[in-house]
Amino acid sequence: MQALTNRSKMVVNKEMSFIEKLYLPAIMNGMRITFSHFFRKKVTINYPEKKRPISEVFRGQHVLKRDEKGAERCTACGLCAVACPAEAITMTAAERKKGEENLYREEKYAAVYEINMLRCIFCGLCEEACPKEAIFLTDRIVPTEFERGDFVYGKNKLVEGVEPAKRIDVSKRQSAAVLEFKKNPEYAHNQVWDPNKSLKKKAHH
Ligand code: SF4
Ligand code: SF4
Repeated sequence: MQALTNRSKMVVNKEMSFIEKLYLPAIMNGMRITFSHFFRKKVTINYPEKKRPISEVFRGQHVLKRDEKGAERCTACGLCAVACPAEAITMTAAERKKGEENLYREEKYAAVYEINMLRCIFCGLCEEACPKEAIFLTDRIVPTEFERGDFVYGKNKLVEGVEPAKRIDVSKRQSAAVLEFKKNPEYAHNQVWDPNKSLKKKAHH
C-alpha cells in the first residue's frame, strides 16, 4: 500500500541491552533536557499581574455605546443577535416613554440585553451588523468566573457609563476612512439625533 506521508516510522521489537534495562541513560537524557530548559527564556508570564501587549483592534469584551448626549444607542433591532453565529445574544425590546428621551436614543430600546460570554467566539459580526453603532468589541479581556451564570453579561456590565471618564474609546476599531466619513454632517448617519425634530417629521408625513 502506498504511504500517505513520509513521516511513518518502522517499529522494531528488539531486545533491550543490559544498560538500556537499567534505564539510567534514558533518565539522564531526560534530566539533561529538563535542566537545559531552566536556562532558556521563559515563554510564560505571570498573568494577570503581567499582561502581554495586544493589538489595538483586539476583539474582547463588548461595550454598548451611548451617544454624545448620554442616551443608549441600541434600538433593540435584533440584527446583532441574528448575525451572531454562536447565538450568544438575547434581548427584550421595550417602548420608550415620554420623558425618557435622555435615556434612550430611539423610540425602541433594549430593556434587557444579554451576551453569554461562554458562547461568544469574539468574531465581531455583531459589531458589523449593528446599524446604530451601538455595539463594539473592545480590548478588554473577559475575566474568569467560578459560576457559569456569571458569564452572562447584562446591561449593567455592557453599557458604558454616562460620565466622560467612563466612556469606552472605540475609535481604534474604525478605519481612517470610516472616521473621515463620520465627520461629514451631510450624511443622516452623522447627524446628532434630535427627538423633537424626529417627531415633527413624523407628524408631517
Ligand atoms: S462577537 Fe461574534 S459570537 Fe460574540 S456576540 Fe458578537 S457575533 Fe456573537
Ligand atoms: S446592538 Fe445594534 S444591532 Fe444589536 S439590537 Fe442594538 S441596535 Fe440592533
